[in-house]
Amino acid sequence: MISQKMTDAINDQVKAELESAYLYLSMSAYMEAKNLKGMAHWLKQQYKEETEHAEKFMAHLYDRGACVVLEAIAKPAAEFGTPLDVYKAVLKHERHVTDRIHKLMDLARDEKDYASQSMLTWFINEQVEEEASAGDVINKLEFLGDSKASMYLLDKELGQR
Ligand code: MG
Repeated sequence: MISQKMTDAINDQVKAELESAYLYLSMSAYMEAKNLKGMAHWLKQQYKEETEHAEKFMAHLYDRGACVVLEAIAKPAAEFGTPLDVYKAVLKHERHVTDRIHKLMDLARDEKDYASQSMLTWFINEQVEEEASAGDVINKLEFLGDSKASMYLLDKELGQR
């Protein structure tokens, strides 16, 4: 049986994942407005992944016989600056999510909740990938610079995601 404390913490993470999804959807809309369709696509994929993360946490609660309670999610920002600013914001946000996942693991360990620890191991690995993929785009943006030719090339590449 999962504890109420762990249940509450996972429900709070469901909210955090949906807020991440909403943030990336807003970033995607911002890139669409800038006519950077490839980056808009990349961010929309990111949005979809975050909704899948929320569902994965929800499924864990269902499997453990606990209740899912959805909370209100915050309104995301609508202005994000340059593409480099956008991806720096993505990385900063993912580092924040990593911190949250690690705290959930700390709680699962304190509670000797082995099933939650096993589920959270997947998320710990996933966060390594999330931070690496945002960092990779930042490196490319910094390397190529913000000329129109660079933006055209990188936008085309990110559209392949
Ligand atoms: Mg996530």
